[in-house]
Amino acid sequence: MSATKIIHSIPSDPLTGAISVPVYQTSTFVQEAPGVNKGFDYARTNNPTRLALENVVAKLEDGHAAFAFSTGLAAIDAVLKLLSSGDEIIAVDDIYGGAYRLFTHVYEKLGITINYADTTDVDNITELISSKTKLIWIESPTNPTLKVSDIQKIAKIAQRINALLVVDNTFASPIAQQPLTLGADLVIHSGTKYLGGHSDLVAGLVVTKTQKLSEQIKFVQNASGAVLGPWDCFLTIRGIETLDLRYKKQSENAFAIAAYLSNHDAVDKVYYPGLVTHKNHEIAKRQQHNLFGGIVSFTLKEDTQEAANAFVTHTRYFKLAESLGGVKSLLCHPPQMTHASIPREVRIASGIKDSLIRLSCGIECAEDLINDLNQAFIAIEKEKDYVKY
Ligand SMILES: *Cc1c(COP(=O)(O)O)cnc(C)c1O
Repeated sequence: MSATKIIHSIPSDPLTGAISVPVYQTSTFVQEAPGVNKGFDYARTNNPTRLALENVVAKLEDGHAAFAFSTGLAAIDAVLKLLSSGDEIIAVDDIYGGAYRLFTHVYEKLGITINYADTTDVDNITELISSKTKLIWIESPTNPTLKVSDIQKIAKIAQRINALLVVDNTFASPIAQQPLTLGADLVIHSGTKYLGGHSDLVAGLVVTKTQKLSEQIKFVQNASGAVLGPWDCFLTIRGIETLDLRYKKQSENAFAIAAYLSNHDAVDKVYYPGLVTHKNHEIAKRQQHNLFGGIVSFTLKEDTQEAANAFVTHTRYFKLAESLGGVKSLLCHPPQMTHASIPREVRIASGIKDSLIRLSCGIECAEDLINDLNQAFIAIEKEKDYVKY
């Protein structure tokens, strides 16, 4: 979707002409007679600010409808509530840590089985299919090792076995990738990341392909009630207005940084789908319209948590924090932060080594960001020398 379309799909207020979407900070709506209203009755069920956000995100993802939740995990939770006890899920192995925690510690207890697979090879998925498989859950690119899966191929498998394909599109954003147009049934977003884009809110979205799925998700949204408040809906809309601009700049910065890291002596491996050395670069190129996002991960030759700690505490512009996708650059050490809830063996098996560092590139000047990383490499070298003598 072009920047023009994004900006102009955000409506001005039909009531007053206000060019920005008003924050309808209200819990209820006055009715003319019981059941006779202007389309809104109670703010858990519906709210005009939320509706404006949901409509914009549905357009961004080329979906039937979208639904806004209080966080990304609440959005994921709403999708899982479509399942029943006894059902099975096949999920990407280096799934977002919070999704792993929800799947294994909440939903397994309720009788849902989750099988994890490296979905970059579709054979790994077909091996796990049973008559109970109801959902295939992927992220592409994944967090934090940026694995890329072929959405179109996996969608065909899902259709064949009558399961739903869910794509967590947080990393690619709808600017780079529209999974519904590639055959997925549902898209989820942590709106906290690129959509919001300013590290000032938490939000989640579910986008549906069909009327039937819309009705089902709408029901869960109202029944469970984890809706996004009007103020955060307003902020997310405001973030989306510059999504195209930000995502392209962040991709550009990340590309330059991935190239810089690839040539650094202290670096072992760089994970970035934009590099021709990336295992699924060709798929990423096609699927993501040549935009590879702002996240770059890398491991150090000295593959220890201590070495990673030294690095992440020596950067100046890259702030040490969880989360990603904002205008300010962040970095984190997934084994101790975002992915700490995943046991070490499981983590290592999915490629998250002890020294893995994840960068979320912001919209600063690429040169400043590279200089920042460079001085951190120099600082940790100096510390090492100091310890030696
Ligand atoms: C952050 C994140 C989530 C969870 O979203 P919250 O808004 O933090 O609840 C889910 N998936 C991915 C890929 C994420 O990065």
